[in-house]
Formats: sequence, C-alpha cells, structure tokens
Amino acid sequence: MSDTANDYQGVATMDKISSLAKRRGFIFQSSEIYGGQSGAWDYGPLGIELKNRIMGFWWKEMTQLHDDIVGLDAAILMHSRVWEASGHVENFTDPLVDCKKCKSRFRADQIPEEKLSAKKCPDCGGELTDVRKFNLMFKSHIGAIEDEANIVYLRPETAQGIYVNYKNIIQSNRMKIPFGIAQVGKAFRNEIVTKNFIFRSREFEQMEMQYFVKPGTDEEWFNEWKKRRWAFYEKLGVKMDHLRWHQHGPDELAHYARDAYDIQYLFPMGWSELEGIHNRTDYDLSRHSQFSGKDLQYIDQEANERYLPFIVETSAGLTRSLLMILCDAYDEEKVADKGNDDDWRTVLRFHPAIAPITVAVLPLMKKDGLAELAEDIRNELKEDFATDYDQGGAIGRRYRRQDEAGTPFCVTIDYESKDNGSVTLRFRDSMEQVRVNRVELAERLRKEIKEYKRTKG
Ligand code: ATP
Repeated sequence: MSDTANDYQGVATMDKISSLAKRRGFIFQSSEIYGGQSGAWDYGPLGIELKNRIMGFWWKEMTQLHDDIVGLDAAILMHSRVWEASGHVENFTDPLVDCKKCKSRFRADQIPEEKLSAKKCPDCGGELTDVRKFNLMFKSHIGAIEDEANIVYLRPETAQGIYVNYKNIIQSNRMKIPFGIAQVGKAFRNEIVTKNFIFRSREFEQMEMQYFVKPGTDEEWFNEWKKRRWAFYEKLGVKMDHLRWHQHGPDELAHYARDAYDIQYLFPMGWSELEGIHNRTDYDLSRHSQFSGKDLQYIDQEANERYLPFIVETSAGLTRSLLMILCDAYDEEKVADKGNDDDWRTVLRFHPAIAPITVAVLPLMKKDGLAELAEDIRNELKEDFATDYDQGGAIGRRYRRQDEAGTPFCVTIDYESKDNGSVTLRFRDSMEQVRVNRVELAERLRKEIKEYKRTKG
C-alpha cells in the first residue's frame, strides 16, 4: 500500500467523508456511547442500503450474468483444521513493534525502513521493541471447556468456505470445469493498526469468487478475470483514472501464488488496495486434500482425466468498496454566487443503480391536497424503487438534503400536478428539471437508471 497522497487532487478528505457518513446515517462508530470499539463500525439506514446495493451489483455481475458461477453462504465458524491446512495458523501474521515510550503500536512493514532499522518510533522518536510476529486470527472456544481441542477461529477470509465445499457443489449442481463459486460475508482480522475510517477494520465484509480451472489454462483465465474485474468498475461508473494495477513483486507474492495483481484506488490517503486477483495454483485444494484425507481431484469423464484444479481468485472488500464509492461520489459544487454558505452544495454522485434512495417525492406545499397526492405517487413508486418522502422545509433545502444523501432523482408535486397529472423530475447531477406525466414516471426513471453516465465531479 502506498502511503503517499501526492497524486490525490479530489475534494474529499477522510474527515469530510466520515463526518458526512455519521451526519447522514451511513456509518457510525461501534459502541459509540461507551467510547467506541476500535476497528468496528455500524452501518446506519443509508449505509446498509448502499452496502446491500454494492453487494447486489457484484452478486448480479458474478452469478446472474455468468452461467458458470454459483453462489454459496458458508458458516463463519469452521473446523479449526481448515485454518491449519490453509496455512493461517502458522503464517497469517503481521510483524509488530511497540514504542517503549509512547506505547504506540505499529505494523513494522508500514513504518519507514530507516526508522525501523534505527528502532526509532515514527511518532515520538522513542525506542521501539524488537519485531514480533502477531497472528491476526481471532480465537475462541466452542462449548464450555476452554482447551486446545475446542479452538475455533473467526474466519479471516471467506475463501476457505468455498474450497471445502467445492466437491459438494460439483456433485449437487453438476458443475463442470471451468466454473466459479461466489460468496459474500463477514471476515475478521485482529489488525494491529486500524486507521483511515473503515478502510482497515477488524470486522469487515468480503466479496470473493473462486474460479476452478484446468492446470495449464490458469494463466489465460487469470488474464480474463483481470479484464472482467476492471470492466466491473467501469460499469459501476467510478472514476477510472482513480484505479490502477499493482503487480505483486517477489517479496509480496504468497509462496504458493503464481501471479497476483491488486486493483488499487486513489483514496484521499493515497493509492491503496481495493481488490486482489490471484492465481493460487492447486495449493488450496492440495492442502485440504492432504489435511482432510479426502480426494479432492476433479474427474473429467469426457476426457477421462482426473486432476486437482487450479484456482483463480477475485477478492474484493465490500466495506472497503463502500468507502471507495463514498470517496468517489463525493463532490462539492458551487451553485450560486450570493456570498453565503448556500452557494455550495455537497453532493454524492452515486450511480443510480447503487444509490441508497433512488427517488425522493416532495410536495411543494403540505396543503391543498398536495401532500396526499405526493404520498399517493410515492406509494406507487415504492413497488419498484427505493423511495423517500420529505415535506419539511423550503424546497431548495430539501433538494440539498437529497443531494447529500446521493439521491439521483427528486419528484416534486405542485399545483399543476393536481390539474394535469404532470410532475417535476429533478436530476441530482445537472440540477436540471423537466415535466413528466405521472403515468410515464416509472418508465422514465428506469430508462434514466439504465442509461446513466456520470458527467460531473
Ligand atoms: P493487507 O495486506 O492490506 O493487510 P491483504 O492483501 O491481506 O490486505 P486480502 O487478504 O487480499 O488483503 O483481502 C482481500 C480484500 O479484502 C482486500 O483487497 C480488501 O478489500 C479486503 N480487506 C482485507 N483486509 C481488510 C480489513 N482489515 N478491513 C477491510 N477490508 C479488508
């Protein structure tokens, strides 16, 4: 991960993002009234909608649009042998150092080389301890007795649940190689340092897809999945000049991996990993085969062959993607020149397909039956869209509130609506307003969502 923010020229800062996220109910600190639980976050009403939609966008892309990929939801608690086989018990460690003076704790690979070799604290200059290996898995016990035989780990990644079910899925769903298994779920890592808001948390969510291929075709599939994952972000409508590839060098590459690339995003704190695409060879299945004693070879009846498949993995953070989307969507725009605070608006330019609220319905006035008419229209739209209703305050302020929540469309009901059934459709990005007939509204919204292209920010 790069620590430099030199390339970053956006208006979003992590402080602005986290305060907007709190103010508007996207993300709260866990257990805040008790002083907070570090590395854990609660997703509020807008946050959970955004998270679900990013997840849905990914899920649709992976499963609905790929006939050869099926889904899975494996348990978080797995047999402890899984983590011995995977290498996590032995190797899932980060190098840890403490400052003897200010008691700060660091990941040794994240402090400058010269400070580490001089054993100098990067914060206060105090003396650092020797580097120790620290295992990132959270450990607990199953049942009443706390002994070695009952150890259970909170999974640090979702992938292992896929590997141990790969034979079940072949048998139950008659999958033929090449095929993939997709999964979204919680993962837990006892990270030494958590910073940059939700970027690195101790409890987070991953969206992983493991693609099983014939050895020898792995390089081709690896390149294919690199292309597809890049195209995914294009479809999501994020700033493509804020994305780049980072190939793992020999010192970063896991010993079993043949090749690995990260997709990095230019966050306010600098270029940082968003997703990893890895050629994991047959390491995972051969280890599980060895540790479980089960034959995990794939039997290709047509070719009369058996082999252990290679695995190409695409592993993205869901909660980290949400942070990326917030940073990417954040914009401040000058919309007037009156010399006061109202000259500027804060706007989240979410793709309408993932916006927490798709359309807000606003009666111009509460009186004269406008509120009732607006509620009626809202109820009609509710079946097909995520809606909001707001009748409080000046219309300009209500638009601003929706801009800040990232709502791409507002529908305003006025006196003309009562007379001729037309409503005002207001677009978040351009602030343009058009009259649309009520009966054509849903169709128009569907078209706008499908054809959306980001033009601003
Ligand atoms: P790092 O080296 O930064 O600790 P990693 O390379 O170990 O991360 P992976 O194991 O490849 O990360 O995890 C896959 C994805 O899961 C990452 O690209 C990231 O999006 C997400 N992820 C990993 N750790 C965390 C975390 N602590 N908090 C939030 N998301 C995470």
